[in-house]
Amino acid sequence: MTLELQGIGVSRGIAIGKAHILFHNQPDVREYLIPTFSIEQEVERLTNATEQAREQLKSIRAHIPANAPADVASFIDTHLLMLNDSSLTTVPIEMIRSRRCNAEWALQLQRDALINVFNEMDDPYLRTRQDDVDHVVNRIHRILSDENVADHEIPDGRLKGHIIIAEDLTPADTVLMQHQEIAAFVTEHGGATSHTTILARSLGIPAIVGVESVRRYIQDNELLIIDGETGTLIAGADDAITAEYQHRRELFEQHISSLSQYQFQPTQTRDGKSVTLLANAELPEDLSTISNAGAHGIGLYRTEFLYMNRISPPEEEEQLAAYRDVVEGMNNQPVTIRTFDLGADKTVDGGRNLSQTTINPALGLRAIRLCLNHPNMFRTQLRAILRASAFGAIKIMFPMICSVQELTQAKRMLSLCKQELDNEGLEYDHHIQTGIMVEVPASAICAEIFASQVDFLSIGTNDLIQYTLAIDRIDDQVNYLYNPLHPAVLKLIHMTLEAGKKYNIPVSMCGEMASDPRLTRLLLAMGLESFSMHPNALLEIKRIINETDLNQLPENTLQVLSTAKSHEAEMFLEQINKSNHKS
Ligand code: PEP
Ligand code: MG
Repeated sequence: MTLELQGIGVSRGIAIGKAHILFHNQPDVREYLIPTFSIEQEVERLTNATEQAREQLKSIRAHIPANAPADVASFIDTHLLMLNDSSLTTVPIEMIRSRRCNAEWALQLQRDALINVFNEMDDPYLRTRQDDVDHVVNRIHRILSDENVADHEIPDGRLKGHIIIAEDLTPADTVLMQHQEIAAFVTEHGGATSHTTILARSLGIPAIVGVESVRRYIQDNELLIIDGETGTLIAGADDAITAEYQHRRELFEQHISSLSQYQFQPTQTRDGKSVTLLANAELPEDLSTISNAGAHGIGLYRTEFLYMNRISPPEEEEQLAAYRDVVEGMNNQPVTIRTFDLGADKTVDGGRNLSQTTINPALGLRAIRLCLNHPNMFRTQLRAILRASAFGAIKIMFPMICSVQELTQAKRMLSLCKQELDNEGLEYDHHIQTGIMVEVPASAICAEIFASQVDFLSIGTNDLIQYTLAIDRIDDQVNYLYNPLHPAVLKLIHMTLEAGKKYNIPVSMCGEMASDPRLTRLLLAMGLESFSMHPNALLEIKRIINETDLNQLPENTLQVLSTAKSHEAEMFLEQINKSNHKS
């Protein structure tokens, strides 16, 4: 009998293979009293287990394939850092001594205390940290309980071609399994933005998350089909269904391998319109992926990483070195550096105490507001960016500008920094371009005013959609309302593009909408000429652009901007995407 289960498709691709069910996860931890004379022995048991967990992770890190994206190592490094943190080393040891309890219980109590702290704060960064704590603590628990059947002990080759079914997977598990050439994975937990999910996408492993109780429905070695795009899992498929998915899998694989031909091709529609394709970068390590993706530069360099995993703010010299590395690494291709967008969904360690906890952080002191509120921090960053501009083509971009006053203040601070550098005889690009992100409805509605005062605009659709449709982007309960095709969103984008045209300045798009292949033609039709996105998405978008003839788009294409009915909008989109097949 055919069984179909539905989850969230988080990493594209079709896989057909036998199930391999993983059962080890939450260990059953009980408390017992340790006799006084055994306390030091118990402490040593915990210390040894923690050391063993460290060694396991180091060995996993050493086995990361050379071509794996930078994320892979950094996720494992996060776990290694946690294993060295006193909250997981010293505190449980103190508990063993003071409560005379067993190592497992001390670790569990500390795990619960840490999770409780995270539960009280509501941002996705911390939520991911919560998963990380569990992954790290579970690893030590497994060692303590001698149930050390970690996946790396599965003999090489045993998982090859299998579809892994698990309650949850750690980033480390994911790396090991990719090493063992698994076909795909399905988990009961996890969301679209968890570390493991991001890794699956980077590593090209088809994946579905959030399939409730999947381990109860599936049997070991049962033949499964999964579609990582739609989130569908099928067990017990008949021959016809299997053949259908085999065919889809071949088409998908052909499609992916055909994309490499676009790497060195110019980006141009069939009727001759040139389009700029830029990459978004979040970490310095992203540079290696970007250089292989055929990007024309970096359209969004997020600088918040400079505040991660630290308490003290980054000094000017450290920032200068980071910006200089990126601009030199891009070999004179332009790099748009966005000034700190700290706060709300980007509350990172070093930036945490810059803004007080507010009831609604998305509407609170974040991005440019936070920078203007902390002029010394802002000044340090602007000086560092300016000084880096002596080494390559840098542009400065201010996030979340809502009013002309904010822009004026930001530009004034920039002029002051330039004057300081002049006085100190330090070099910088005197013609450095300055732009803003259009990511609140106010700036899109007033795009003409801003366009007359800056060198470029970049549309941040992630926030623009959040603020236009009033959907907190970190609230799972309202995520279903996210709709890039909402006419209000499309109209604001269109107004911004028109303003750019009127004032003859470039307008780019750097939110997730820019990397959605379904929307590429519509955006081209609306007049978008520059797209910035995660490097993994670039070649697919280039393919669509290069296969588009703008003259063949339906005449009524822009009617989608005024339809309030979502099924009509979908219909327009389908017409636009069908209108234009390569002849
Ligand atoms: C956006 O808001 O669309 C954007 C690109 O910025 P971020 O996702 O970093 O807020
Ligand atoms: Mg934004």
